[in-house]
Amino acid sequence: MSKLPNVTTSIFTVMSKMATEYNAINLSQGFPNFPVDERLTDIVARLAKENVHQYTPMAGYPPLMNQISKLIQSSYNRIIHPELELLVTAGATQGIFTTILALVKENDEVIILDPSYDSYESPVLLCKAKPVRVPLNNDYTPNWETIEKSCSDKTRMIIINNPHNPTGKILTETDFLQLNILLEKYPDIIVLSDEVYEYITFEEKHISAHTKSFLIDRCVMVSSFGKSFHITGWKIGYTIAPEYLMKEIKKVHQFLVFSVNSISQFAISEYLDVVDVNLLGKFYQEKRDYFQKLLQNSRFELKPCEGTYFQVASYANISNEDDVTFCKKLITDHGVAAIPISTFYSDHKDQKLIRFCFAKDNFTLESAAKKLCEI
Ligand code: PMP
Ligand code: GLN
Repeated sequence: MSKLPNVTTSIFTVMSKMATEYNAINLSQGFPNFPVDERLTDIVARLAKENVHQYTPMAGYPPLMNQISKLIQSSYNRIIHPELELLVTAGATQGIFTTILALVKENDEVIILDPSYDSYESPVLLCKAKPVRVPLNNDYTPNWETIEKSCSDKTRMIIINNPHNPTGKILTETDFLQLNILLEKYPDIIVLSDEVYEYITFEEKHISAHTKSFLIDRCVMVSSFGKSFHITGWKIGYTIAPEYLMKEIKKVHQFLVFSVNSISQFAISEYLDVVDVNLLGKFYQEKRDYFQKLLQNSRFELKPCEGTYFQVASYANISNEDDVTFCKKLITDHGVAAIPISTFYSDHKDQKLIRFCFAKDNFTLESAAKKLCEI
């Protein structure tokens, strides 16, 4: 009997595979297609010949852990204790899975805000706990009233994703105020804050869970170097949690992964001395603006995008088909791959919305837009 009977191949895999099969321009799965910073590839090339190929300590290569601590301090003015509160993970996916496995027990409830990224529900189910999927408002802001109504003594965790995949929405000070009020009413609830796009925000600044004192003792924060350094295939990220939670997270980590691949830890540790993460927002804002301009005369209606490298678009003016069918035809008939938004909802509600990834070189964006404008 399957432990995850309703889980099928992820939509990102399905769409990317189809894009390859039909030789379509792949704006579906979120990954950049431009070259990685040469300073980083040069570091890796040099390191490959050095003594960097054996296990690092379980929680991470200590110089990298110090570098991450410095990054947190410079980004958010928060001082963490790397040896107690930090774990280097094989991507944010592993950080999320390990955190849920370590902290959620049978019959606990975990609040997941829909539309939601696909990594949250399965680990909850594997813990024999209950995912409680709560819809965001129509403008993708959290509905704190509904969230509160969904909380009970059984609620163990609320998962927030900020900036938000797929909608590009970011949380505001008011949201954190509401979250604080809620957490005061439910002292046993902890927060899992997925901030993999923390450095990719545009007009408004990202507000990290790191900056909220009420969250320091009860929040696990996950991030990904894959997103920040355009290296999604390296699968490396980090998780930060208060010591009492991190102790439990490390217990699972040491049997799930033990330690993350060494050379990428050495390389990123050096790279953090030269890279400026604060340039990322501007870089992707230019991509977003360019992509939006290219699609200006198309029949797609573009939704607001405050962060991440995803653009949600409505095709209601083009077709009445459901979004999965529409995305498949977009590949087969028009040569562009996108992600149907219904797959981010537990009830797969079709709203005629699709997600494009604009983390692509300008030629790719131009070629895709040309095709999209012809529809
Ligand atoms: N969370 C969100 C919201 C994501 O979009 C992704 C996709 N990369 C992840 C987590 C997983 O990150 P990683 O590739 O580092 O595992
Ligand atoms: N985070 C990526 C996205 O949203 C997908 C990563 C994956 O395929 N697991 O497109």
